[in-house]
Amino acid sequence: MNYPLAQINLSALQHNLAIVRQHTAAKILAMVKANAYGHGLIAVAKALQSAEGLGVARLEEALALREAGIKQKIVVMTGFLNAEELESFIKHDLDAVVHSEFQLELLEKYRHPREGGDPVDVGLFDCFAISRKPTYFPLARERRGKIKIWLKLDCGMHRLGFLPAEAESAYQRLMQCELVQKPLTFLTHFPNADAKEDTLTQEQTQQFLQVVKFWEDEKSLSNSACILVNRATQDNWVRPGIMLYGASPFAHLSAQQFNLKPVMTLRSQLIAIRHFKKGSAIGYGGHWVCPEDMPVGVVAIGYGDGYPRHAKSGTPVLINGQQASLIGRVSMDTISIDLRSIENPAVDDEVILWGEGLSADVVAAHAETISYELFCRLTGRVKFQHI
Ligand SMILES: *Cc1c(COP(=O)(O)O)cnc(C)c1O
Repeated sequence: MNYPLAQINLSALQHNLAIVRQHTAAKILAMVKANAYGHGLIAVAKALQSAEGLGVARLEEALALREAGIKQKIVVMTGFLNAEELESFIKHDLDAVVHSEFQLELLEKYRHPREGGDPVDVGLFDCFAISRKPTYFPLARERRGKIKIWLKLDCGMHRLGFLPAEAESAYQRLMQCELVQKPLTFLTHFPNADAKEDTLTQEQTQQFLQVVKFWEDEKSLSNSACILVNRATQDNWVRPGIMLYGASPFAHLSAQQFNLKPVMTLRSQLIAIRHFKKGSAIGYGGHWVCPEDMPVGVVAIGYGDGYPRHAKSGTPVLINGQQASLIGRVSMDTISIDLRSIENPAVDDEVILWGEGLSADVVAAHAETISYELFCRLTGRVKFQHI
């Protein structure tokens, strides 16, 4: 049995990348963190070769990309967390987001190991001073590089980044650091860009621009929501994520409205068709009760595959292209479907849980979550096929 199967349509991915380009002339940092939003990191990255860069959350993800031979610019959103990681960034030519004081300190304390020998502790001079001491050389050629830094400002997300009042000092310290390649790139991330009545993004954009106005360095502000409503006017780099995968960042606007195509289609099949009498209770808890004598289908998908357990009765599925509804609780391995609306259902019939013909956003809304989470949460039991 080949089900459940997540089919990943890489031409839809490229179509969605083209939609990004329709909205903005900025360079594109395609966000492929969390296994490309659950779509398969390497296959997705290879299909995104025409993006100017790739964005990941953690060093490990960036190393997997380099190991697969990906040569593009890669930006790691959490940056380096210690000296070993910093070495790795330099060695593998990875861009680091710097968001915290401890990272500035690491950059300032970093010593290139002495050629042919062990790293030498030269005390707590700053990088600038060290650079003028001729005795300290990189150990190996690949470590001789500088590091590209994206300086993160916190203009209201209150997650990672320097507050506006701290920006000047962080910037100056980076500019003085020998190890750091200039110019830098500034970035900020918006907490409310997907909201229906969003006035905050405008304010936060102004605040960000105010802070960086004296510096020539490149800027990156926009996620999918900003790009889609044409707010990405100040970016040198945009950072689309969810829109590349063909889903909408908005609760009130569909992916289809933006001509985005679903990349992932999650398929399974009917494994049984049952006929129950009026009054029969379906599944754990028995909360859904048949209102009449009726056929009920059992589908091989459950929360053990990553189908959301909180999907409510009424969540749509497609059976042979016709819409039907989930009934009763989601089990680990199966869900039950009201088959009254389906003509001639048969065991083995294909069931689409989300994707082509049924937006993951709609399913997510029935499960009180967002498509991002549905995509990321598929488990190892689901087979993947990239087409
Ligand atoms: C994930 C992420 C994005 C992409 O957000 P979407 O809403 O998926 O477009 C952009 N910027 C940062 C810093 C992120 O972590």
